[in-house]
Amino acid sequence: MQRLWTPWRMAFVQGEKSPGCIFCAKPAESRDRANYILFRGRHNFIILNAFPYTSGHLMIVPYEHVPSIEALDSAVTGEMMELSKRSLAALRKAERPEAFNVGLNIGTAAGAGIADHVHLHIVPRWAGDNNFMPVLGNARLLPEALESTYEKLIAAGIGRP
Ligand SMILES: [Zn+2]
Repeated sequence: MQRLWTPWRMAFVQGEKSPGCIFCAKPAESRDRANYILFRGRHNFIILNAFPYTSGHLMIVPYEHVPSIEALDSAVTGEMMELSKRSLAALRKAERPEAFNVGLNIGTAAGAGIADHVHLHIVPRWAGDNNFMPVLGNARLLPEALESTYEKLIAAGIGRP
């Protein structure tokens, strides 16, 4: 089978899911660096996506385990937007993207990998980042390691209040 641009993403889609809810489990632990938690707000945390579409793909996640945003208090959704602004600013410095996708996949049919716990995706984009694979054929292009992305975003101020 031809390797895809983000092979670990396919492994995630096809492979076994970890039991329990990772968006509840990870903030309950006290090892944010190992879990790629970039920042903890009052109602939400910022975490790198371990199966990124592009380098710097992160998520804003409320601590509350609910499937959609209408179940959240306005203080929570308001902070989601504040942390989105903070994330965009840090990503612009750290990754110099040309554009962003910011959005929610609500429900499995909409593409949510973890449908029970709502999360806001922030995906840095570059012209052609999804288009060059067919041209390059067998080339396997890996985004930078998650550790490197984590350090760059911390240095860019995402963890500073
Ligand atoms: Zn959860």
